[in-house]
Amino acid sequence: MDFSFTPEQERLRQEVRDFLQKEVKEESRADFLYDRPHSPATRELLRKLGERGWLCPTWPKEWGGVGASALENYVIQEELAYAFAPAPFALIGAMVVGPTLLLHGSEEQKNKYLPRIASGEIEFSMGYTEPQAGSDLASLSIKAEDKGDYYLINGQKMFSTKADFADYGWLAVRTDPDNPKKHKGISLLIFDLKNTPGVTIRPIYNMSGYHSCEVFYDDVRIPKENLVGELNQGFYIIGAALLFERAVTVSGFYRPLELLVDYVKNTKRHGRPLSEDPLVRRKLAEIEMKFAVTRVISLRLCWMQQHKMFALNETAMAKLLSTEMIYDLANAGMQVMGPYGELVSDSKYAALQGWFAHIYQESPHYKIAGGTSEIQKQIIATRGLGLPRG
Ligand SMILES: Cc1cc2nc3c(=O)[nH]c(=O)nc-3n(C[C@H](O)[C@H](O)[C@H](O)COP(=O)(O)OP(=O)(O)OC[C@H]3O[C@@H](n4cnc5c(N)ncnc54)[C@H](O)[C@@H]3O)c2cc1C
Repeated sequence: MDFSFTPEQERLRQEVRDFLQKEVKEESRADFLYDRPHSPATRELLRKLGERGWLCPTWPKEWGGVGASALENYVIQEELAYAFAPAPFALIGAMVVGPTLLLHGSEEQKNKYLPRIASGEIEFSMGYTEPQAGSDLASLSIKAEDKGDYYLINGQKMFSTKADFADYGWLAVRTDPDNPKKHKGISLLIFDLKNTPGVTIRPIYNMSGYHSCEVFYDDVRIPKENLVGELNQGFYIIGAALLFERAVTVSGFYRPLELLVDYVKNTKRHGRPLSEDPLVRRKLAEIEMKFAVTRVISLRLCWMQQHKMFALNETAMAKLLSTEMIYDLANAGMQVMGPYGELVSDSKYAALQGWFAHIYQESPHYKIAGGTSEIQKQIIATRGLGLPRG
């Protein structure tokens, strides 16, 4: 089996790498690393990526892509992530909303949103989760009443990441409260997050300083033309959207691993090089192996996408492996670096500029956002192995 890339794909990789070396300034790298994805430096870089069609490479040219194959897209994503550039996998518009609109959006919706997503002009916030509905999304209760030419929305969402700066909301609502099959009464709406009255947004911080938002909807009016796909079919459309959201790559965390390996090669503890410590060597070897496995799974997923195959099981595996691996890497870093690893970036004693302290605090949430690890295991057990639903 040949896992190598073609000369054209390697040329594309070099082109992206050269561009990023020139364009990823220290401030945009830091903004992105520390989750300030809306800073002016980041937005500027997004626009430049958009000009080249690299935010949504697989989309047709008419919508702002370059008609790239799934593997070419993989190469671009890998380089962006490795350079700590703002990568589309962290962009809700490019990663989730756009691909879903390509499948289920009306022509008006495609015209209105896709070119602006692909050019880096607009971003979305996803509103699925509610206080009582996360893994069990079919239980969501935010009400959307039919009022003729608009829906009247009342209720609350939790963890609507980026709601405090995104331009548009991507909102799952209950349009048929009487249907005993809960998942058949849900619809999906787009709305103008910045200019719609009745929306209150409050940040929720986690231990790394990253924040998501809770959002309250009081008599919010959303025009009916903003319905995505068919009425009451939202649960199925979200199912497709989740596959896009979960198809993450791990390459963004190969750079910290390389830095950790360099650190180990160049640091002594108690007069002895860290690189000679068998525990340290074993830890790094385990992480290297997990990276290799995760990358192969991601490439397989990519190949399946290229061949338009349904990849629920493989997407769950890629999401599970990559997020667990990042968590393991962060833990390994903390153990290898000891107390120096715990110091944050503004300490002069911080190892590796405090990156691992940040990743360590950040990585637990990757195992929750987009569907928890337990849910991915449920999918693998039921869809991959054919076990009954527990
Ligand atoms: C930082 C962050 C950002 C997020 N961003 C967004 C966003 O932008 N938009 C959005 O809509 N949501 C977002 N989420 C929400 C996220 O998708 C949910 O938190 C997640 O799906 C879990 O739902 P929950 O928090 O309600 O936990 P619950 O569903 O209540 O789960 C609690 C625990 O029970 C386990 N569990 C639940 N059901 C099962 C089962 N059937 N089998 C085995 N174990 C189970 C879970 O794995 C978990 O450990 C974000 C979350 C975080 C932490």
